[in-house]
Amino acid sequence: MSYRSLLAAILLCTVAIGVSAAEPLKAVILDGQNNHNWAGTTPHLKRLLEETGLFTVDVATSPPRGEDMSGYKPEFSNYDLVVLNYHGVAWPEETNQAFVKYVADGGGVIVYHAADNAFSHWKEYDEIIGIGGWGGRDETHGPYVYWKDGKIVRDMKPGSGGTHGPQHAFQIIVREPDHPITKGLPEKFMHTKDELYIKLRGPAKNLTVLATAYADPAKKGTGYHEPVLMTIRYGKGRVFHTTIGHGGGQCRSVSFIATYQRGAEWAATGKVTQKVPDDFPGPDEPSMR
Ligand code: ZN
Repeated sequence: MSYRSLLAAILLCTVAIGVSAAEPLKAVILDGQNNHNWAGTTPHLKRLLEETGLFTVDVATSPPRGEDMSGYKPEFSNYDLVVLNYHGVAWPEETNQAFVKYVADGGGVIVYHAADNAFSHWKEYDEIIGIGGWGGRDETHGPYVYWKDGKIVRDMKPGSGGTHGPQHAFQIIVREPDHPITKGLPEKFMHTKDELYIKLRGPAKNLTVLATAYADPAKKGTGYHEPVLMTIRYGKGRVFHTTIGHGGGQCRSVSFIATYQRGAEWAATGKVTQKVPDDFPGPDEPSMR
């Protein structure tokens, strides 16, 4: 078959099946160690990506804590999206470097909940996640970031980074309504009973806070509106950081599901084609699946 007739055949096929010939996006979830139930949440995180119809999903599980990590080398360059569900011992240096290069070269990343507790002594990781908590994080890692009096504040006061009060349901408020991830969402929506991370701090370079939640002092909060959904640009890479979704129950909240799915598509492609689901919550009641 000549090149031209082959081309014509391909065109005909594409028209005949009436869909674009786009390959699915490829995602990998990194897990294996965490102070959270990673074995419970990863299958859920995987299914939510698959449910979009956009992704095929692999899982790269590290050896357990205490075992030899030297062979843990996910092939980042094979993927459009890396979901971080890992909070454990250091990866091999080669893996660290490959991850940083993947992001800098334009890779997509989701920082999911306790992934922002990880690797507090890895400078590039801190820049990729924007802000984080625990692990000895303090003012040497960068400012506290919160919303106060109508704007984002970067506060360099000294103190430890990262904590949360007792779990409770909280309302999330969109601060960047024109971003592809938040476009079309209600300005205020209710999230289920979950941990509200507060006092996160870090380099916060190229960080955009998409949505916040009020950390009520009655729930051991700061009295500030704390970042819940964020994006970070690192080199050519796109990072979506969601602090919610402590466990399987929390991940069934539509507030988590839809923002995670939209964040995943944006991190992988820079766009969001998904519609806001009909069961997305309003300002008063959480919506569960
Ligand atoms: Zn948690």
